[in-house]
Amino acid sequence: MRGIAKSMMTTLSVFLRPPVTRDYPNVHKALPERDRAFPLLLWDQEIDEPFCTGCHACERACPVECMTVLMKDNPNHKSVGGNSSRRKIIDKFWIDYARCMRCNICVEVCNFDAIAMNNTWSGHETSVHDRKDLVMDLQQLTTQSHSGQIKEWVPVLGKANEEPTS
Ligand code: SF4
Ligand code: SF4
Repeated sequence: MRGIAKSMMTTLSVFLRPPVTRDYPNVHKALPERDRAFPLLLWDQEIDEPFCTGCHACERACPVECMTVLMKDNPNHKSVGGNSSRRKIIDKFWIDYARCMRCNICVEVCNFDAIAMNNTWSGHETSVHDRKDLVMDLQQLTTQSHSGQIKEWVPVLGKANEEPTS
């Protein structure tokens, strides 16, 4: 009798225990600031154009050659009456997310802080039926930054080099 009561108590306690899992995809876990999904291009909100000048540095450094970059003369440059100091600007940009291994090298080599790893869930939830749909063009690569949904992670200078106090 005592054994039955004990087992019933165990059953009841397990039944009342809050779930240890999340109702994904309805509930998303908060991602860390430095989470690394796929690369995105950043938008210069002040000038209203991409930061990317199409310099090809990332394209040359990408170990799996999944980037294609084409540059053009910037039609918004100051010399032609615009308000941008970028003489050259990105014309076309593709990244094949099906091949990208999210190594972050493209971000590290960019001299213009024009590219960042997506640190939102939309960067992870990229399932498609056809691999061709994972080739992202310039518009797809800039949309999130242009609309303010993503901001580049910037290290707090000084803090990273602080000695631990304990
Ligand atoms: S994260 Fe790495 S593999 Fe992906 S596009 Fe950048 S350099 Fe290429
Ligand atoms: S993202 Fe940076 S490194 Fe790549 S083409 Fe644009 S400016 Fe150059």
